[in-house]
Amino acid sequence: MITKTVMIALVGRPNVGKSTLVNALVGEKIAIVSPKPQTTRNRIFGIAERGETQLVFLDTPGFHKARTKLGDYMVSVSEQSVGDVDAVCLIVEPKANIGTQEALLIERIRAAGVPAVLAINKIDTVKKEELLAVIATYAAAYDFAAVVPISAKKQDGLDILFDEFEKFAEEGPQLFPDDMVTDQPERLMCAEIVREKLLLSLESEVPHGTAVEIESFREREDGVTEIGAVIYCEKASHKGMIIGRNGDMLKRVGEMARRDMEGLLGGKVFLQTWVRVKPNWRDSGANLRTLGYTNEG
Ligand code: GDP
Ligand code: MG
Repeated sequence: MITKTVMIALVGRPNVGKSTLVNALVGEKIAIVSPKPQTTRNRIFGIAERGETQLVFLDTPGFHKARTKLGDYMVSVSEQSVGDVDAVCLIVEPKANIGTQEALLIERIRAAGVPAVLAINKIDTVKKEELLAVIATYAAAYDFAAVVPISAKKQDGLDILFDEFEKFAEEGPQLFPDDMVTDQPERLMCAEIVREKLLLSLESEVPHGTAVEIESFREREDGVTEIGAVIYCEKASHKGMIIGRNGDMLKRVGEMARRDMEGLLGGKVFLQTWVRVKPNWRDSGANLRTLGYTNEG
């Protein structure tokens, strides 16, 4: 049972391994949202559970663009994400000199007065002596709560990182439901996009008997978001109409939906669609909840 929660902002320059780390922390069920910058809100990256603690990892909006928008970035320093989390995890390359972006982030952390854990990533690429120099450099620059060498790729040092994060956990209600690994809104929007295309493409009563569930949602290392959508319909005859002759209808719906999803997520999407018959899905509360049609929470 979850009795404690902790929110952690993951910050670091592009390519430092944030996505890889979140994948590794959240585990195989990961469904990462694509790095579409958002203007005002924190973006939830992933949710993990360890013992009685729920860990929520946040991406920090704006940082992906920090190189081109340094000005904006500095202005937003005090108000954004870093202030509302329990701790920040700064992820850096295993280099014994502090880059401009790292220096800015350290300033941001200092200004917010929030505890920070330093994760030195990619230690699989350096020798131990080099690593010691990296640790010394960063330890001298800021009073980190902990300095943890890791390899997100090789899943090395992650237990220690988890231990450090858990120290900032506080008693409190569970923030997100069990089994939720990321924030749902984008998934739901993608499901709605598919439904919209069905409504546009199919004239009959069929679309009203359909529901769409995004079964998988994963950002690959190459930046492409892989989305698996299941279209539920009530009758086998409907399934045939949705798929269409030679699969033409489903292909068309998928094409249109993919384009919209790419607009929504701001990146390439690889969309797979399936059609399943699920009689009377509209009468089942559990089905409706699974499909996101609920007013609760
Ligand atoms: P992000 O831009 O910060 O999200 O970085 P990514 O997670 O996309 O990783 C950028 C690149 O670094 C990818 O090619 C990863 O495979 C690689 N990478 C991430 N973590 C490690 C690591 O621990 N060791 C090594 N060798 N490469 C890593
Ligand atoms: Mg990334």
